[in-house]
Amino acid sequence: MLVVMHHGATNAEVDRVVRTIEELGYGARPMPGAQRTAIGLVGNDGRVDSSRIEALPGVAEVIHVSQPYKQVSREWKPESTIVELAPGVRVGGRDVVIIAGPCSVESEAQILEAARQVKAAGATALRGGAFKPRSSPYAFQGLGRKGLELLALARAETGLPVVTEAMDEEGARLVAEYADCIQIGARNMQNYSLLKAVGKLQRPVLLKRGMAATVTDLLMSAEYLLAEGNGQVILCERGVRSFDPAVRNMFDLTAIPLVHKLSHLPIVADPSHGTGARGQVTPMARAALAAGADGILVEVHPAPDQALSDGAQSLYPDQFAELVGELRPIAQAIGRALATSDGTFATAHV
Ligand code: PEP
Ligand code: MN
Repeated sequence: MLVVMHHGATNAEVDRVVRTIEELGYGARPMPGAQRTAIGLVGNDGRVDSSRIEALPGVAEVIHVSQPYKQVSREWKPESTIVELAPGVRVGGRDVVIIAGPCSVESEAQILEAARQVKAAGATALRGGAFKPRSSPYAFQGLGRKGLELLALARAETGLPVVTEAMDEEGARLVAEYADCIQIGARNMQNYSLLKAVGKLQRPVLLKRGMAATVTDLLMSAEYLLAEGNGQVILCERGVRSFDPAVRNMFDLTAIPLVHKLSHLPIVADPSHGTGARGQVTPMARAALAAGADGILVEVHPAPDQALSDGAQSLYPDQFAELVGELRPIAQAIGRALATSDGTFATAHV
């Protein structure tokens, strides 16, 4: 529930609403705005009787949020949220971000080369997993802390902010120490204890859609992060399991405009995991941008044939450069622009 105060309501009137909400046994979140102050009521799992609140002085209207997710919904916050990935690098505004890099950090030489290549081609941020959720316990599991150190090295050299996955609470604290944004992977989207822990960290989060999760499930998971006080959440569409084995996952393009309608949070698209095959990554990246994605997360490897994970869906660096060149006019056609890692617009053509 959202209590909207009259323009010019006094602090005492706002305080009285807060106290009344607390007396009713709920939490109150005042949200001062340029036009008006609103007070969110949290902690309810159903409709709240608002008669006492409606009668208080200074209250203009009470809005009952109809969705099961509250703070994540556009009813709660009509204006789009902009997440600052790193100083000057914003996700959810006019600029479209491109987060690129290998699936896994494999060695110093590999991640530095990848970082240089994606930076030269126009990427905004670097991705690369140090903690890898693999289907097989015998597959490469990532370099762990060493991988985070190498990502920090690549950031120091290229200036690219780093997005990398955490699989547990301890890993999340480490990622928050070394990187700019904590990725929560598809397999952990509904790991509620991890979500609660990450919600307490003051770091942007990239929350990927689970492979069998509905859009509502994704938004409910994001609600866990906001409920713990972390509002810097970027959602990510990365495809869902389907009946058709012809593709690794079915990339759900519709989720992009749907999330924009239902939520104020930004959403980026991952056509690499969304398709699983290099040949389909570029067309789906173009489509995702045209559909309104606030960014593209894409796997790029200096030598995909030698990659320790997800080589088949990783772009060659020259393919990535070509993709960036194609994304630029698509962004322009819909009134947007590609962002660069220092927050200015990319001018160089690749
Ligand atoms: C990844 O980004 O490398 C990854 C493991 O993605 P997902 O969680 O979407 O499978
Ligand atoms: Mn991967």
